[in-house]
Amino acid sequence: MKTFAFLLAVVFWALPVRAQELPIFDTHMHYSQGAWDAYGPRQILEKMDKAAIPRALVSSTPDDGTMKLFKIAPQRIVPGFRPYRNSNDLARWYETPDLLPYTKARLASGHHKVFGEVHLFLPGNLDTPEMAEYLKLAVDRGLILHPHSDAAVVEALFKKRPNLKILWAHAGFSEPPEVVGRLLDQYPNLWAELSYRAHHIFPDDDLDPQWKDLLIRHADRFTIGSDTWEVDRWHDYRNLIGEHREWLGLLPADVAEKIAYRNAEALFEKR
Ligand SMILES: [Zn+2]
Repeated sequence: MKTFAFLLAVVFWALPVRAQELPIFDTHMHYSQGAWDAYGPRQILEKMDKAAIPRALVSSTPDDGTMKLFKIAPQRIVPGFRPYRNSNDLARWYETPDLLPYTKARLASGHHKVFGEVHLFLPGNLDTPEMAEYLKLAVDRGLILHPHSDAAVVEALFKKRPNLKILWAHAGFSEPPEVVGRLLDQYPNLWAELSYRAHHIFPDDDLDPQWKDLLIRHADRFTIGSDTWEVDRWHDYRNLIGEHREWLGLLPADVAEKIAYRNAEALFEKR
């Protein structure tokens, strides 16, 4: 049996690199309540296996979803915390006083490495007393902030807390490559995650030249995400990841590996 396993390993190793699937660290996964009935935590891990996803950054509404996965696979799941007990909390969490004690109680477990994904729509959203506490919590606990925000909010965040580390959800969702590039130039503590961006990076089955230049220029600062915010996206998980593998395959191999998993591995080094 041992010999067989050894032979298998040799055969696998001998395959050309391109024939193996590029592993991807999914840095934008949700396992929220709406998906629990369709897929149990073990089925989620199977989906990750089938899509060649060794590790994932997960945040969920509510946080219990993330913990279901973390409990059975602590080596593979990096927990992020979002202060949403249900989807109604998404819109005004930054000014809802009773979410603060809930947050502090959940963060006390010490498992979370990220604060987010959280939605911040306007720079003014940062000016609430609650938000001052959230930012203090993030800095004090060394949590990476994962905001779904435009460029103006990211700039306002760094203005308030220059020491923050930010993983920018969807690289701003609709911000053009020149804006994403300007922010990456300006802020060394900023990384950008590319869920919902495959159709910008790879329109008409070819790499957009501006995106290509930016991905190569800042190859150390991008990561991949699926954003499984609704159960339909879980049905289609392998294809969601496959969209990214298509354009990654057109980049120089070292750049593709960094964006696929090396940058996220460095950000979320096992401690
Ligand atoms: Zn989002």
